[in-house]
Amino acid sequence: MVYLDNNSTTMVAQEVIEAMLPYYSEIYGNPSSIMHQYGNRALFDVEEVKMKIAKYFCATSDYEFIFTSGSTETNNIALKGLIGGMKRNSYHIITTAIEHKSILEVCKELGEKNTISCTILPVDKYGHISIDELEHAIRDDTILISVMGANNEIGVINPLKEIGAIAKKHGIFFHSDLTQLIGDIKIDINDYKLDMFSFSAHKIHGPKGIGCLYLNKRTKHLIKPIILGGNQQTGIRSGTLNVPGIIGLGKAIDLLNHGIACYNNQIKQLRNLLLRELTYYLPVVVNGDLQNRIANNLNVIMPQMTSIYLASNLPDIAFSTGSACLGEESSYVLKALGLSSREIECSVRFGLSRYTTEEEILYVIEKIKKLV
Ligand code: PMP
Repeated sequence: MVYLDNNSTTMVAQEVIEAMLPYYSEIYGNPSSIMHQYGNRALFDVEEVKMKIAKYFCATSDYEFIFTSGSTETNNIALKGLIGGMKRNSYHIITTAIEHKSILEVCKELGEKNTISCTILPVDKYGHISIDELEHAIRDDTILISVMGANNEIGVINPLKEIGAIAKKHGIFFHSDLTQLIGDIKIDINDYKLDMFSFSAHKIHGPKGIGCLYLNKRTKHLIKPIILGGNQQTGIRSGTLNVPGIIGLGKAIDLLNHGIACYNNQIKQLRNLLLRELTYYLPVVVNGDLQNRIANNLNVIMPQMTSIYLASNLPDIAFSTGSACLGEESSYVLKALGLSSREIECSVRFGLSRYTTEEEILYVIEKIKKLV
């Protein structure tokens, strides 16, 4: 079996599993129970992970990291929490047509309730938004720009630096869903002027069910909780902390810290090999800008074969037909690029990882070649 669905989720690194295990069987205290050593130790270790994450993203003073169940929840808290916490007569949000559904559905729901109005920026055939269009969309009541770091289907990277500068110039909050970007490049949040960002451990060889929301000094006092209860995490996200998950997330960040540039060089070479060879046998068309994309993503139209046909004929290769979060629904991301329904049917996403080998890529090429 060859696993090429790493934009959907990744294998948990062995080092991450080893780091997590003691937190199930030995250090299992509740970090909110600080009357005894079990709780104190868990709290200490959670705080250490927070510091590690802060250092990795170059967060300086007065920040908050809130642990969640993953980026879906984090995006919900960022948007709903910020709007709930601001006292305004009207709220306007700017986002893009190819954000994850956990942004778009929140905008849709709040729009239907007339809580907010929303500008959804279109993308061109390469998956790029227009920065001019973004700046023109700003109104007096615009409170938030939410633009993802990189798209989960086509991997295209957004110009966060420029967007951050515009948001700052107009005094608007800037949130980014960095779920797909954090495994690709080392991020210094000061470059992007981010007020909030979301990320998830399972895209970077950490465990599933743990994510994180960064809040800076401007947003950390504004967020209104959407989950009420135990008052953990300054009340922003109640619920007993997932300590093993947090430790796993911390370890996954450690691993990135040690090798991100080198992993991505290797991943990009393998991705380019895959594309080169596929192009040799088939008139494949790359969906989205090839140059300006995360290293591990390749999304292509295979003109003679539908993705369903490919999947049923290549049962030992795990790739995907789009976002795992969409289920049977056809890809709104590819639609936004202007693809026809036939082109969407024939599109496949390959997602590589630092564990993908050249032998695996050659095997996939050989199998597709035979099918052609
Ligand atoms: N945003 C993006 C860009 C994603 O790729 C994903 C996962 N597909 C999510 C949000 C949701 O993340 P999670 O699975 O951690 O809820």
